[in-house]
Amino acid sequence: MRVDLHTHSTASDGTDTPAELVRNAAAAGLDVVALTDHDTTRGHAAAIAALPPGLTLVTGAELSCRLGGVGLHMLAYLFDADEPELLRERELVRDDRVPRAQAMIGKLQELGAPVTWEQVARIAGDGSVGRPHIAEALVELGTVRSVSDAFTPDWLADGGRAYVEKHELDPFDAIRLVKAAGGVTVFAHPLAVKRGEVVPESAIAELTAAGLDGIEVDHMDHDPATRARLRGLATDLGLLATGSSDYHGSRKTCVLGEFTTDPEIYGEITRRAAGAFPVPGAGGPGA
Ligand code: AMP
Ligand code: ZN
Ligand code: FE
Ligand code: FE
Repeated sequence: MRVDLHTHSTASDGTDTPAELVRNAAAAGLDVVALTDHDTTRGHAAAIAALPPGLTLVTGAELSCRLGGVGLHMLAYLFDADEPELLRERELVRDDRVPRAQAMIGKLQELGAPVTWEQVARIAGDGSVGRPHIAEALVELGTVRSVSDAFTPDWLADGGRAYVEKHELDPFDAIRLVKAAGGVTVFAHPLAVKRGEVVPESAIAELTAAGLDGIEVDHMDHDPATRARLRGLATDLGLLATGSSDYHGSRKTCVLGEFTTDPEIYGEITRRAAGAFPVPGAGGPGA
């Protein structure tokens, strides 16, 4: 059984529509895929409607958080998407992405890159707008050669010349809210140092004491030594260790199923969840 618990669609900054994503997940030989768009669950309905037979969808989101000035991402699975308090927080984070993107565009214009909100809004479509969309605009303009070349201190990296913070959740609040909505939390790529500063291991221990369920161990932004360290930490702290692709379609190089989660760990996540059930694709031919 192949389980990939972290992917993005056009509902945030991926390039596959939710329907394309589930079709591609089945074609990649996955049995279970989680749709975890940044700060939104808006892609779930279309993913469910297009779910191929044999593929199970885990509904989720990747919540933008900040702790002691350090940005981090919290994966949330199988929560009740209608629970009002968590819904309000997702909306606050998602909606603040628009003025924040406009502020980054203003900085880029001052730096001589002729990017406009119209261009970025076209690229983002109705997805929650983020730096990858702005990065793509810079590629279109020829300012940088690739999306990842835009994530440097000169441009959009954390603390970079054109970087602007957005509203983000306190991760302790995120864990509490997700739990109250019946969901399960997994700290995404906790030691992805190439993206910027990361929190110390002591913070992971404190988050665990506050109810964190797991950490993402196998991820493209962790080298083998980092994965080994995180696996040890998961054992020491009693955390579930997951693996996933963090697929973004053509906006990142990783492919679906590049890293996967042990089916037993996946089973434990589903046992702990009470806010929503995994959705199995319809079984019959022609479904
Ligand atoms: P935002 O949520 O708007 O701050 O954008 C963060 C997103 O940018 C992350 O979720 C990644 O998808 C992407 N990202 C961060 N660092 C990089 C990088 N070095 N190269 C490419 N994409 C990145
Ligand atoms: Zn993303
Ligand atoms: Fe992330
Ligand atoms: Fe992600």
